Amino acid sequence: MTTATTDPLTEYDTLTSEHARLEKQFLDKKLSQEEFGILSRQLKERIAHAEQQAYNMARKDEDLAKRLRSRIYNEPMAQQVISHFVRTGGRALDPEFGPDRMPRYALENDKGERVFAERSTLQRLADVGTVTETLYERVLYCPRCGTPSDVYLRFKCPHCGSIDIVINRMMEHLQCGTIHQETAFLVGRNIICPSCKKLLQNQQEYRLIGIVCSCNSCHAHFEDPTQGYFCRRCQNEFTLLTGVVTDIFSYKMTPTALNEAQQFLGVNVLSKALAEAGLAVTAPGALRGATREVVFSLVADKNGKTIAIDIAHSPQEVEIQPVLDMYVKIIEASPAVSILGAVPRASKRAKDIAGLHNIFIVEGVTLAELGSKIIEIASEKAQTQSPPPR
Ligand SMILES: [Zn+2]
Ligand SMILES: [Zn+2]
Ligand SMILES: [Zn+2]
Repeated sequence: MTTATTDPLTEYDTLTSEHARLEKQFLDKKLSQEEFGILSRQLKERIAHAEQQAYNMARKDEDLAKRLRSRIYNEPMAQQVISHFVRTGGRALDPEFGPDRMPRYALENDKGERVFAERSTLQRLADVGTVTETLYERVLYCPRCGTPSDVYLRFKCPHCGSIDIVINRMMEHLQCGTIHQETAFLVGRNIICPSCKKLLQNQQEYRLIGIVCSCNSCHAHFEDPTQGYFCRRCQNEFTLLTGVVTDIFSYKMTPTALNEAQQFLGVNVLSKALAEAGLAVTAPGALRGATREVVFSLVADKNGKTIAIDIAHSPQEVEIQPVLDMYVKIIEASPAVSILGAVPRASKRAKDIAGLHNIFIVEGVTLAELGSKIIEIASEKAQTQSPPPR
């Protein structure tokens, strides 16, 4: 049992490295296939549990949420979701329901293809506060097969349980007080009172007062049929008590979350490219400044020189705000080289201001494109023989 004081994220990391050690032992032939299988499965369960717990706790713990966010930004699926919100300017992502009644979240990827976001990813993005969720629909899933596709609502006779019942709506003629089944009032297209024979022409003359049911099997009459559900897929009968009611959400990204996420979006692609070019990279990259720690999208080290890199995305042009944000951090941490990657490009004003503050702007439609330009600047500006800045 985990107590409230343990940090599930630390536990997750510990267990993950434990699993890596286990894999190594197996590769070194210190464990049999069978032993490895059992231990690995146990560990993986604990890892999944710790992760789940971390995400659950993140809803109430902003510090934990922040740590999880910097991780989730590196997941390809999460990146696709965030890119989608960047492209659409944060418009809500509503579910679509197919013939199987399963919710699907359609996105457009970088190549303009239609792809679907995993619900688990959206859920975790909501846990850490990157997206906000709004209840869109509630769907009843069969508790046995776990799908909603063939679940039917059933009304049954409370006496014998048969579904072969007739549901009659009861109608009252207000003027003469006659109460009868709706069918007794219907004569062709007209509504005629079966007692006083008056033609009822407007809705103020009568009202529907409820239902009366009769059972074709046991001939009982009753007002409240038993309600239940039946899954045709697995022939399972269940009630609201045992059925799985699942909330289906629509997702949105707030401007604040968009702003934060954009700085880290796709950074792992970039980190990889920079690492391959021989730079030591941390992403997100924290630098200790004179008075506080500041965080850049990534921080690279070349020949002992610190290169701070921020990434900014915009549907059209990156404006001056990311430049100013970076400038504030540079004053604090004074890296040797500062580079702002603008996707897809920066406005003229942003470039002018960056120029004034010694920030290099690189532009590119993809992070890979930015990568090669950043490597170029890094190798040029962080030469061992070049004099230290100022
Ligand atoms: Zn079922
Ligand atoms: Zn009447
Ligand atoms: Zn019956």
